[in-house]
Formats: sequence, C-alpha cells, structure tokens
Amino acid sequence: MRNGIFKSLLIWGVIGISLMMIFNKFNNSGSSDKNVIAYSEFISELENDQIKNVTIDVGQTKWIKGDRKNNTKFLTYAPNDPQLVNDLIKHKVSFNAKPQEESILMNIFISWFPMLLLIGIWIYFMRGSAGGGGKGGIGGVFSFGKSRAKMINPKENLIRFSDVAGCEESKQEVKEIVDYLKNPAKYQNLGGMVPKGVLLSGSPGTGKTLLAKAIAGEASVPFFSISGSDFVEMFVGVGASRVRDLFEQAKKSAPAIIFIDEIDAVGRQRGAGVGGGNDEREQTLNQMLVEMDGFETHTTVIIIAATNRPDVLDPALMRPGRFDRQVVVPLPDIKGREQILYVHMRKIPIAMDVDGRVVARGTPGFSGADLANLVNEAALFAARREKKLVDMKDLEDAKDKIIMGVERKTMVMNEKERKNTAYHESGHAIVAKILPNTDPVHKVTIIPRGRALGVTMQLPEEDRYSYSKDYLINQIAILFGGRVAEELFMNQMTTGASNDFERATELARKIVTKFGMTDELGPVIYGQNDTEVFLGRSVTTHQSISERTLQKIDETIRKILDTQYKVAKEILTNNRDKVEMMAQMLLEKETIDSKDIDNIIKAQ
Ligand code: ADP
Ligand code: ZN
Repeated sequence: MRNGIFKSLLIWGVIGISLMMIFNKFNNSGSSDKNVIAYSEFISELENDQIKNVTIDVGQTKWIKGDRKNNTKFLTYAPNDPQLVNDLIKHKVSFNAKPQEESILMNIFISWFPMLLLIGIWIYFMRGSAGGGGKGGIGGVFSFGKSRAKMINPKENLIRFSDVAGCEESKQEVKEIVDYLKNPAKYQNLGGMVPKGVLLSGSPGTGKTLLAKAIAGEASVPFFSISGSDFVEMFVGVGASRVRDLFEQAKKSAPAIIFIDEIDAVGRQRGAGVGGGNDEREQTLNQMLVEMDGFETHTTVIIIAATNRPDVLDPALMRPGRFDRQVVVPLPDIKGREQILYVHMRKIPIAMDVDGRVVARGTPGFSGADLANLVNEAALFAARREKKLVDMKDLEDAKDKIIMGVERKTMVMNEKERKNTAYHESGHAIVAKILPNTDPVHKVTIIPRGRALGVTMQLPEEDRYSYSKDYLINQIAILFGGRVAEELFMNQMTTGASNDFERATELARKIVTKFGMTDELGPVIYGQNDTEVFLGRSVTTHQSISERTLQKIDETIRKILDTQYKVAKEILTNNRDKVEMMAQMLLEKETIDSKDIDNIIKAQ
C-alpha cells in the first residue's frame, strides 16, 4: 500500500506544479494589469490616436499590450487581424514584436500536459486493478507493466510431496519434473525431450496449486505464480507485457517454476466464447505461446498451468513443446480422503476417538480443500467448546456444516443419488464383463467427474483402428446397462442415463448409415460425409434419400436399439447377485479396479 500513497502524492505533485507553471505563464503575459480592454476599444483608441506604443505577441497574435499617450497601460486579447500592422503604421504608433517568454520546453510541457495527466491516471488505475501486493517483492515503485507475479523463494517454500495426499498417480507423473529441475544436465546430455509445460486439470480444490508448489519445494527452485484471471481485466497490451516480464524474471532465476492458475481465463479457444473475441485475452495468450516457443532447450524453466476446464482450452496450448503433458488431479476417493485428512490433522491436537476412515466415508465428493476446511472447522468447534483436543463430534459437526454449505453446489451427492449411481455403473460394468468381444473394464467409480456422476472405464487391450459389428453392437448393450440396472434395482429412471441413450442412438445410426453393416440397408453410406453423421445431424437433411429409405433407416436403428436393450436386461436379470455385489462394493470403496471386478465375476 505504501506504493499507492507514494503514487498519488507523485501525481498530485505533478498536477500542482503544472498548475503553477500555467498560472505563471499568464502572469507573464501581463494579465495582472487591471487594464484589459476589448479589442474594439483598442481599435477605436488607435483610430483616435491615443496609443503611443504597442508590443505584439508573435506567433499567432495572442495579445497586444502597450502604453497610451497619457502614459496609462493597456492590454487586449487580439483576434487575428491582418489590418493591424497597417493601422499602426497609419497612426504612427511605434510597435515591436515580442518573442515568446517561455522556453520551448515549457510550451511542449504545457501542450502535453493533458496527455501526461491521462497517462498518470491510467497508470494509477492500472496498478489498482492489478490488485494484491507483490509479496515476493518483484517490481518496485516504478515497475509499471511489470508482472504482478508472486514469487516464493525455495527457502520459504516448505511444501513437499508428503503434504499432497490422495492423488498418488498425479504425484507419480510429476516426479520426473523434480528430477529434471535438480539435474537438467542429465536430461540435456541425453538430448531427449525435455519437459516444458505441464497442464494440471481437475476440479477446484483438488490440490493443483499445492502440487505445483510441492514440485518447486522438492526441487528447491523459485516458484513464480500468477492467475489467468489477473490478466482479464487489464488494459490492452498490459497482459502481454506482464507475461513477457514474468518469463524474463523466471529465466533470470532459472531453474524455476512458473505456475499459471486458471489458465482457461486466458487460454480459451481463440475467437470463441461469449461476447466475441477479447483482444486482451488473445494477446496475452499469444504472448504466452511466443514465450514458450522461444525457450532455448537449456533454459530450465518449467511452466505448470492449472485448469478445471481443460475442454475449453485452445488446442494450440497443447501442441508439442507447450503444455504437452497433461496430468489429471482427480477428486480423492475414500482412501485418498482419509490420507488427506491425516495430512491436515497432523497440524492440530487430535483425540484418541478420531477415526479418519469414518470421516472419509461420510464425505463423498469432498475435495482436498473441502477436507482441509473440515479439519479447520473442527478445530474451531473444539476451541469454542473449550476442549484441548479435537474429537469425533467436532469433526462430524464440521462435516455437517460444510455439507450444508456445499450441497447447493451439487458436487456432494446425497445417499440416494450415490446408491443410484452405484447400480447404474455396476450395470454398465457387468454387461461389459459378460458380453464377449468387448474391452476389459479397467475401473469403475462413483466419484463424480465433471457432469458425470460416475464412470465405468473400459480400456482396449491394444489400440483399435477398426471395429467389428459385434463390438459396436455390444457397446450399445453396455450403454443401456446403466439405465436397465436403475430400473431393475432402484425401480426408477433418472436423467443421468440420457447421455448413454444419446451415445447408443448415435452408434446405432452409424452402424446403419455410415458403416453399412446391416442386411436391411446393405453396405451403403447415407449422409454426405463424416462430419454430418459425427455432428449428430440427422441424415434426413440429405436430399437424395427417398422417403421410404429414410423410414427403413429409422426402423433399423430402432430394431438395433430394442434388441440391445433386451440383451442388457437379460444379462442383468440373470446376474442380479453380481450387480448387487458390485454396487455394495462401490458404495463402500467408491472406486474399484479390474481385480475387484474379476473377483465379483468369479464369485458364485
Ligand atoms: P486447486 O489449486 O486445485 O484449486 P489448491 O491446491 O489451491 O487447489 O488447494 C487448496 C488447499 O486445499 C490446499 O492448500 C490444501 O490445504 C488443501 N488440499 C487440496 N488438495 C489437497 C491434497 N490432495 N492433499 C492435501 N491437501 C489438499
Ligand atoms: Zn451411464
């Protein structure tokens, strides 16, 4: 804040001095003589031969002053009068012209004054809008346009990987970066691809910032951070110049880490977005890309960006040599939540009765930040209750308090939703396991991700480049498995399955119109090109298909869907116990892997 006061003093000082100078200027020109007369009066006095001598301001004639014959003084402000000199000669008035008294510099200053004032105000507001304080001490009083990034020295950064819990895979993936920062020569000598940019994606509060700090902490390098949203409200050109400064600073202190939080604020697809393009945002993004491309391979600066919307990012950001490494930081599962709770409970005195597992089980959908908050709230409850140790009741109460607050954000599922999701995902998984010619089920989870309440992940054994009809048809049955399970086990249908239906219909349409895999219609491609079908546009827009063919297409799609729906229903009815078992396991563990799934299938 001292900067701010200094700045306004400076600005007011400049204004004051300038006003004084302007005042002086007019003073010099003689306005202090209380003898100002109208120009017409001056002319009539001239006509009457009352004027003895005059001095005329040169340049554009601004004023004329002089003495009358009765020795009184006068001053008049003169219009541009080409007759004047002739008149003066005619009336034999001695006259001279006076050079400007003020220095040229002064004049320049005065004509530029409004401009300077504007620039001053601009600087003032800009510094204001950048907000925050340069904690790390980058940028002094006059570092206008310099980056407002914060810097944490390695000595001050106490965060280590052990402080980040519940995302082992993500940690594993970034460990290599620490190694590289500690020992860049090893990598450079090998001439291998040196990491440059890492994109951390995941819901808010999952520990992306924490993970980035931990990388800097482990590698013992300076940590520069700035948020994408800082750039957004800036004046045009400032964002780009800040990016330049930030990279400059980081390069000077290499090896270093630059962390860009909320990169989606600047990194949205260019030319997209509501309200048309935003020049400032695009300029900032372009500058960022230029900086990343301009890095020499021996500069050991790693750029880590974080976002919870990887889907909206400009694909240019993901090109090789930019943020080509993407690490997902997921919401923690039940085990992860327990570990995160322990990380934060280390910092407070905990009673013997506290069981992290129980708290973890009761907090599905909580992020790491929610859990940190929970422990903090529990400590506050304990303090208010004048207890020395935080016990289970404090934790339970804190949990309730947070759930009330979070519920409206819908990330935290209620018990019924969880149960429904558990059956839904089990339905997908069991159908996939029972049908032949499908990809193995890798993982099933009821931890919400983005808009999906749960996910059944199938991974192909090898990369697939073509699909058999069987495979595709089975895929449709698997998609139906979710809804069918809801019907069979929960006696309800939810909107959660509507995306499955869309995908099933889409697939059936492709089988009929694009892959030409049905006897009814034969190996003919309907619809003009890939994208038409891909975009989900109905083939009915295509002119050259007859009404009868269209009807036949629809009938065939319908038949495929109906048959596969029945297949899914049959499989799940015949394997009720397995669905039940898997759903229970999901409710217990939230995420199950292929080993768990195999065990369920083998069980009698
Ligand atoms: P993000 O950057 O993903 O929004 P943050 O890293 O800012 O989340 O997390 C905020 C806080 O929540 C952290 O400072 C930490 O206290 C806590 N937290 C979040 N995730 C974790 C985690 N995986 N392990 C431990 N603490 C976490
Ligand atoms: Zn589904």
